[in-house]
Amino acid sequence: MSRKFDVVVIGAGPGGYVAAIRAAQHGMSVACIDEWKNRDGKHAFGGTCLNAGCIPSKAMLESSELYHRAGHEFKKHGIKTGELGLDIAAMQKRRAGIVRQLTGGIAGLFKANKVEGLVGHGKLLAGRKVEFTPDDGDPEILEAKSVILASGSAPIELPFARFDGETIIDSWDALELEAIPERLGVIGAGVIGLELGSVWSRLGSKVTILEAMDDFLFMADRDVANVAARDFKKQGLDIQLGAKVTAAKAGKKGVKVEYDDKAGSHAIEVDKLIVAVGRKPYTEGLLADDAGIQLDDRGFIVVDEDCRTRVKGVFAVGDSVRGPMLAHKSSEEGVMAADLIAGEIAEVNYNVIPSVIYTAPEIAWVGKTEAEVKESGRPYKKGSFPFAANGRAKAMEQTTGMVKIISAEDDDEVLGVHIVGPMAGELISEAVLALEFSASTEDIQRTIHAHPSLAESIHEAALAVDKRALNYMN
Ligand code: FAD
Ligand code: AMP
Repeated sequence: MSRKFDVVVIGAGPGGYVAAIRAAQHGMSVACIDEWKNRDGKHAFGGTCLNAGCIPSKAMLESSELYHRAGHEFKKHGIKTGELGLDIAAMQKRRAGIVRQLTGGIAGLFKANKVEGLVGHGKLLAGRKVEFTPDDGDPEILEAKSVILASGSAPIELPFARFDGETIIDSWDALELEAIPERLGVIGAGVIGLELGSVWSRLGSKVTILEAMDDFLFMADRDVANVAARDFKKQGLDIQLGAKVTAAKAGKKGVKVEYDDKAGSHAIEVDKLIVAVGRKPYTEGLLADDAGIQLDDRGFIVVDEDCRTRVKGVFAVGDSVRGPMLAHKSSEEGVMAADLIAGEIAEVNYNVIPSVIYTAPEIAWVGKTEAEVKESGRPYKKGSFPFAANGRAKAMEQTTGMVKIISAEDDDEVLGVHIVGPMAGELISEAVLALEFSASTEDIQRTIHAHPSLAESIHEAALAVDKRALNYMN
C-alpha cells in the first residue's frame, strides 16, 4: 500500500523546505524529499542556499572582511595588534559549523511542524504520484493531492573548462578551499564571481576576474556600478571587461586561461580557476516521461504567474522556474504555492524583489534602474546622498558609496532605490517596504530616521529628489 499525503515537496532548499512548512501550517499532511549530500557524504536539508551558497559565502565574506579590516583599518582606529595571521582551517571550521547548525535547524523545524522529511531521490510520475527512493532502500510510491517541485539549480559548466574539483572549480569548491591560492582566476563578474573573488583577494590571493560583457554589473544602476568598479579596483581586484574566455587547460603548474578582448588574444596562468558563469535549472531524474511537465528551451520548468505547471495540482518554485535565481524569491514562491493549495489567495510581487551583492562596499537595489525608467518613457526625478556625508558611516570608517532614489515626476511614486555602501543589503529592506506599499518620495521624506544611522542616507536621498537635502549641497 502506498503512503498518501496532502502535499509532497521534492527538494528542501529555500523554495521546498519553506513550502513544506507553510503547507503543514495549513494543517495538511506533508512529506519533503531531499537528496543533497555534503562533501563529507552526509545528507543535510537546506539545498544550495544553506550548504553551498548564500550562507557559507556570507560566512567566508565576513571572516575575510574582518581580516582585511584588521590589516587595513585598525591602525586608523588606534588599535594595535601583534602580527596578523590566518588560520584557514579554523575559518573553514566556523563556516562548516554555521552551515551544520542551520541545516540541522531545518530538520528540527520539520519535526516541530510534523513535516515528514525523507532523505533520498524524488521523481514525479503521472497522476500526482511520486516515486521516493531512499539512499539505502527500495523505491516507494507516495500519493499526493498536490506536488511542489523545488529541485533548484546547478552551476553552468563551460565545455572548454570542465570542473575537475581541484584546479578548475565551481563556486561550492571555491568556498571550501583549504589553502589560499597565490593566483586565482575567476570567469564571470556576476554576483557569485565578485563575492568569491573578494573573499580570496582579501585573504591574499592575486585575483583576476574575466568578464565577457563590456558593461560592469550590467543589471545594476550605472551610478552604483561605477562606484563599485572604482572601489574594487582600489582593493586590487583585477576585473577585465569585454574578456571572453575561450580555453582553460589545467597542467602541473596550474591553469592556463586564454581569452579574447578588443586588443586581441591573451593568456594568463593561475593556480586555481573558479568558473562562475551562472547557474542552470536542475531537473535531472525529476520527471517521468509521462509526468506531463513542460520544460522550456533552457531547461526551466514552465509555470504561470502562480507557479502552476500545466499538470493540475503540480506546482514548481525556485531556481528551476523563470525569474531571478535568489533564495528569497524561491521561498516566497514556496509560500505562495502552499497558500494556493490551501485555497487561500496568494501572489508574489515580482516587481519588488531586492538584489544584494555582499561585497565591500555592498550593493543592493530594488525596483527600476535609471536606464530602465528612461526606457519606459515615464518622466522622472532623482536624488542621491553620499555616505561620506553620513555621521554613522564616518564613525564606522565606511564612507564609500551612496544612496540613489528615482521617483516619478507625475505622482512622486518611488520607482527604484539603489545603494552601494556599508550594510546596503540591510538598508535596502526599507526601500523594499516602500515599493511594496507604493510609497511616494514624500512618505520617505516624512518618515523619522534614527540619528545617527546609515538609514539617514535613504532619508537624505529622498529629500535630494526634491532638491532639499539638509546635510549635503543639492
Ligand atoms: P536549491 O537551494 O538548489 O535546493 C534544491 C534541493 O533539491 C537540493 O537540496 C537538491 O539536492 C534537491 N533535489 C533536486 N532534485 C531532487 C530530486 N529529484 N529528489 C530529491 N531532491 C532533489 N541567493 C540569495 O538570495 N542570496 C545570496 O546571498 C545567495 N548567495 C549565493 C551564493 C552562491 C555561491 C550560490 C551558488 C548561490 C547563491 N544564491 C543566493 C542563490 C540561492 O542559493 C538559490 O537561489 C536558492 O538556493 C534556490 O533555492 P531552491 O530551493 O530553488 O533550490
Ligand atoms: P551571473 O549569471 O550573474 O552568475 O554571471 C555570470 C557572468 O559570467 C555573466 O556576466 C557572463 O557574461 C559571464 N560569462 C559567461 N561566459 C563567459 C566567458 N566565456 N568568459 C567570460 N565571462 C563569461
